[in-house]
Amino acid sequence: MNIQNYINGSFQNPKSKEWIDNYNPSNGEVYSQIPNSSKADVEDAYNAAASAFKTWSNTTLIDRSRILIKISELLETNLQRFAEAESKDNGKPVSLAKSVDIPRSASNFRFFGNAITQFASESHESVGLNAINYTLRQPIGVVGCISPWNLPLYLFTWKIAPALAAGNCVVAKPSEVTPMTAYLLGEICNEAGLPKGVLNIVHGLGTTAGQAIIEHPNIKAISFTGGTATGAHIAKVAAPMFKKLSLELGGKNPNIIFGDCDYEDMLNTTVRSSFANQGQICLCGSRIFVESSIYDKFKSDFVEKVKQLKVGHPSNSETNIGALVSKPHLEKVKGYINIAKEENGTILCGGNEVVVEGYENGYYLEPTVIEVPTDECRVNQEEIFGPVVTIMPFQTEKKVLQMANKVKYGLSATLWTNNLKRTMRMSNELQAGIVWVNTWMMRDLRTPFGGVKASGVGREGGFEALRFFTEPKNVCIKY
Ligand code: NAD
Repeated sequence: MNIQNYINGSFQNPKSKEWIDNYNPSNGEVYSQIPNSSKADVEDAYNAAASAFKTWSNTTLIDRSRILIKISELLETNLQRFAEAESKDNGKPVSLAKSVDIPRSASNFRFFGNAITQFASESHESVGLNAINYTLRQPIGVVGCISPWNLPLYLFTWKIAPALAAGNCVVAKPSEVTPMTAYLLGEICNEAGLPKGVLNIVHGLGTTAGQAIIEHPNIKAISFTGGTATGAHIAKVAAPMFKKLSLELGGKNPNIIFGDCDYEDMLNTTVRSSFANQGQICLCGSRIFVESSIYDKFKSDFVEKVKQLKVGHPSNSETNIGALVSKPHLEKVKGYINIAKEENGTILCGGNEVVVEGYENGYYLEPTVIEVPTDECRVNQEEIFGPVVTIMPFQTEKKVLQMANKVKYGLSATLWTNNLKRTMRMSNELQAGIVWVNTWMMRDLRTPFGGVKASGVGREGGFEALRFFTEPKNVCIKY
């Protein structure tokens, strides 16, 4: 089956007539092909977006909102189809795509469809000067949205929905590794009545199709989620053109566990925060620090629970851990397990590839727990982005805070404690864009989402996203 670009409301082959193989990670087989789009396809997408902009930016908020909510409803109606497609492309369990990825993609459209009707700008009366200031929040024009493979439709729509809600037209590129649900989204947009050219989806490689989007002189803002190195490259390309940038990048998040926490809740959530989506979530707590008073107990209980996780085919309802997204990614993650051994880490469980009967060429890996001798080793500092976590004990709050902050990333942190003063102190001090206390990945779409340090710049979510996708203009009227 061939995937096509979605440009000006219709499905099109790439101008180059070149295609890229798309693999199913659960069995290692090529199951579709995607356009190897070039600059010419991005130019077509840009032109379609630019001509749609005048009308879309003047479409009433109620009408924009109605269309976005219709897209949301159609995603819900097509839940099973989208969940299966997401799983086939990505390797994640169908159950996860069905309970998290696709419902959340639908929520993104519903949320921003509603939020735009509540988005207000401020006004200031200049008392004594007989003047009033108000702020217009105008759409930027044509914007670029580029997303990664780990939560394909979830993160793709997390950008597209606010961009469209705010009145922009979009040129978007999903990851070349997981293009399928973005392709299917085009059909749904047509069915929902999204006018032609408002959303354009170009498939292809980052270095060609993606590069053409970030280099385009008239695409004025780029919302990007992906790796830190790619983010740095985009910043360099965009800076001379003064593009507005939102960069959501890598993470190496600490999960800090104190002895006074609610133990069972912490243990179950920690299994999830370590291995959900095969550990391929930028928010996974990949560095587990445990207060020494409960370290031995935690270590044995955690390892026992992790050993019970079932690695299997994504469509098997009993599967907890599906396939990793690609062969090169599997090799990268395995490489880190070897590095851990060289650095005197102890593999407490996992560490090996898994052969799933009937799917021998799939990319399966055991969930792996590594006890590390120091927080400074590479597996504790570098993003692995797979089913691999490190654990080590700590003695004091001061020391664990130091270790938690001593990485280049700063996306999220999780804290397990019932001590209120400690919660307040540590939440203030942790270098992260998001701190979860006694929970993990609980998301309220109104809240700001993003990271500090090498985890990115800017925030998504709620009105932050609508602010990103609009230009504020101050109007001062003297009367
Ligand atoms: P990646 O940076 O390789 O690719 C992300 C996207 O950028 C893809 O669509 C890719 O084609 C495109 N791209 C690559 N080179 C480009 C270029 N030169 N110009 C324009 N676009 C280009 O990342 P990935 O491997 O797909 O995703 C994994 C990374 O994403 C991890 O580091 C993970 O932490 C991060 N991530 C971050 C968040 C967050 O919210 N902070 C969420 C999910 C994933």
